[in-house]
This record gives sequence, C-alpha cells and structure tokens, in this order.
Amino acid sequence: MSDLQFAQSLSRLGTESAFMVLARAQALAAEGHDIINLGIGQPDFRTPEHIVEAGIKALRDGHHGYTPANGLPALREAVAADLHRRHGVEVNPDCVVAVPGGKPTMFFAVMMFGEPGAEIMYPNPGFPIYESVIRYSGATPVPIALREENGFSFSAEEVLAQITPKTRLIIINSPANPTGGVTPKEEIDKLVAGLLDHPKVALMSDEIYSNMLYGGRKHISLLQYPEIRDRLIMLDGWSKTYAMTGWRLGYAVWPEACVPHVTRLCINDHSCVNAATQFAGIAALNGPQDAVREMVAQFDARRQVIVEGLNKLKGVTCTDAAGAFYAFQTSRAQA
Ligand code: PLP
Repeated sequence: MSDLQFAQSLSRLGTESAFMVLARAQALAAEGHDIINLGIGQPDFRTPEHIVEAGIKALRDGHHGYTPANGLPALREAVAADLHRRHGVEVNPDCVVAVPGGKPTMFFAVMMFGEPGAEIMYPNPGFPIYESVIRYSGATPVPIALREENGFSFSAEEVLAQITPKTRLIIINSPANPTGGVTPKEEIDKLVAGLLDHPKVALMSDEIYSNMLYGGRKHISLLQYPEIRDRLIMLDGWSKTYAMTGWRLGYAVWPEACVPHVTRLCINDHSCVNAATQFAGIAALNGPQDAVREMVAQFDARRQVIVEGLNKLKGVTCTDAAGAFYAFQTSRAQA
C-alpha cells in the first residue's frame, strides 16, 4: 500500500495485457525455456538489413541531436511519397507528424477531442488502448460492434445511428487487431457519405496494418476520400510493415487545423522521435520493399495453417483473417 495521492484519472487508465505476457515470456526465455510467444502483435522477423544500416550510419554521422518536433522534413516527404505510391493520394508533408510508434497518435487524438461530456466511438472487439485512453480522457467510450458474420467490419448504418451531439471522434481500424477483419469499400463509402451530415465529428483511421492484406485484397485508405480530409487523422507507421516495433516510429496525416495542436502535444510529451530511428524510417520507405512482400507472404502461409488447424479443434471456429496477423475466435460451439 502507498500513501501517495494519485490522480483520480489513473483509475480509468487501462492497459494492453499483451505487454505483461511479453515480459513473462521474455523472463522464461532468459531462464532457458523454449518459448513461442503468440501474445503480442509483433513480427518475428528482423528489421531488414539496409534499414538497420541506415540507423547505424545516422549515429556514426553524428545525428545525435533533437530534430523538428513533427519529424525530419525528409522523413515527412518520404511518407507523402509512400502514400502517393500505395494509395494514389496527394499528402502535404506539413500535415504528416512523426511520433514514437502508432500509439502516440491515438493518445494525442483522444486527448485533443476527449473530455467529460464528450463521446468517442471505438471498435469492439478492438485494440485495447482505444477504450483505455478514451476513459482516461474523461470522455464516454461508445463501442462500435464488429460482428463475425460481417467479416468483423463495422456497419456504417450502425455507426451513423450512434452519433449524438456529444460525438467528437470516431475511431476505426482496418485491417483490424485482434480480428484480422477488413472493412469492405462499400461500408467505408457509406460511412463517409453519412459523415457529411456531421461536419463536427472527427475520424481517426488506424491503418497500421495497411500493408498486410490477403487473398488479393487491396487496402482502402480513408485518405482516398477528399471530402473528409479536413477531419481525418490517418494513423500508420513502421512497426508492423518493416518489423520495427522496438524502434518506436509511427506517423499520422492530420487535418491542417490539428497540426499545431498535435505538434504542441509532441513538444510537451517527447520533443521529437529519436533521430537515428527517423533516418532508418527514411531508408525503409525509400528503399526496396522485397522484404515486406516476403514477410507478408510468410504471414499468409502461416495464417492458412493456423486457421485450418484451429477449425479442426473441437469447439473452436475461426474465420479466415483478411488482413493483419491475427486469428480470432468468437463462436464457442459446445465441445
Ligand atoms: N494500432 C493497432 C491496431 C495495433 O495493433 C498496434 C500495435 O499492436 C498499434 C496501433 C501500435 O503500434 P506501435 O507499436 O507502433 O505503437
């Protein structure tokens, strides 16, 4: 027990329990146990060598200082070029803000819009940090039901029906953690069309798995809808695509009106992303993408083995994940 007087808000802050599992698995591995850790969402591949080399070179070249809070211009330009290549969209590098991983964008977006009396929607089942930080902000979390029969996509109709005058922000995530679900274009079209009647509602689209789709699917980015650019926060990053979870590098494309606010949040929180990591991030985006393709092909092969194997177990059913690297079971048939 402690006599310290913690802030009330801490009691509302949740966690991502996969980090507890990770710590336990690493402790057991350190004791010499042979561990396969399926607990946390990170590739078991090494960061491609040319990216590692770029990080080392940056340190050797003396990039040891602060960078601009929103990220090196060359990094933000590389992001804009990558988004043009992958999604065919024009992005102003000044609207790109680099942060240490995917998570800071969600934290900052929720802090920017969340407060007591506000409502924020989030996918359920979904990445646990969304609900945690919404509660922490004092806003009311409003779940968006994702159902197996819809391939774990949201229903745009349901999302739009849940909007109230208190709704400030809607969070969506496709391909999704933990279901592997991918939202079909028709549903996104409907959501965007419906949002035109709610111009004060912001949208955060977590596209961190945008490079991991299977069965010939192509990623639909919310950036492809110019009509909502003025309230869209599009989150993506290097962690999953380039097996760089430990480097801590992510970004979002923010609406112009949000950029000064998020930049101030960065300055208050972490100043800037580690400089060498940013150079590694530039090499990742500007360099060859073969390693990404090979890794995704491996995930696809494993996905097929795992899904088939799980479905053979009595009492277990598991849908074919369309994206990301998760297998998710909701139905519990009687064993
Ligand atoms: N968004 C989703 C949906 C995730 O699954 C994760 C990590 O698991 C993140 C964001 C955060 O990624 P990062 O490790 O870059 O903070």
